Amino acid sequence: DIEVAIKVVIVGNGAVGKSSMIQRYCKGIFTKDYKKTIGVDFLERQIKFNDEDVRLMLWDTAGQEEFDAITKSYYRELRLKLSTNGEQKWKKKVGQIPLVLVQNKIDLVEEAVLEPEEAEALAKRLKLRFYRTSVKENLNVEEVFRYLTEKYIER
Ligand code: GDP
Ligand code: MG
Repeated sequence: DIEVAIKVVIVGNGAVGKSSMIQRYCKGIFTKDYKKTIGVDFLERQIKFNDEDVRLMLWDTAGQEEFDAITKSYYRELRLKLSTNGEQKWKKKVGQIPLVLVQNKIDLVEEAVLEPEEAEALAKRLKLRFYRTSVKENLNVEEVFRYLTEKYIER
């Protein structure tokens, strides 16, 4: 039986590897092709955490301008849900949403737009846990979702 179901939303600019990360984590695959994500989609994976079955639903979003309308309406709906279901309760919950900052494509670090130190400094400023990943090399991807699961469960 699934005891815990966690919704994970992945946001970021286009082509940074959001869809690839979800594919890697849920299907164990990596492809070089780049297919723009349209709107919002999700994949799921079940894991064991402290002997409990946890279902992670990974929501993919499109960072591209042309799909902004779809993503925006999705966020609007999320905000609506958060604001209509008892303000206090949700305010408390939203404040407890675990967050993580990821710098992906670390296998291409010499071509990076942002130096690793800058990315780390940004995470510090925002008080976020920071991970460097390579979806291609399957580096640190599991760790990102384990961390989020742990944070969510011990909220
Ligand atoms: P999205 O727009 O954020 O969803 O980006 P995609 O997941 O579609 O990835 C964009 C491109 O980057 C694709 O061609 C992927 O194969 C590639 N890519 C994703 N992650 C990595 C990575 O860790 N290393 C390298 N070298 N390429 C990656
Ligand atoms: Mg995508």
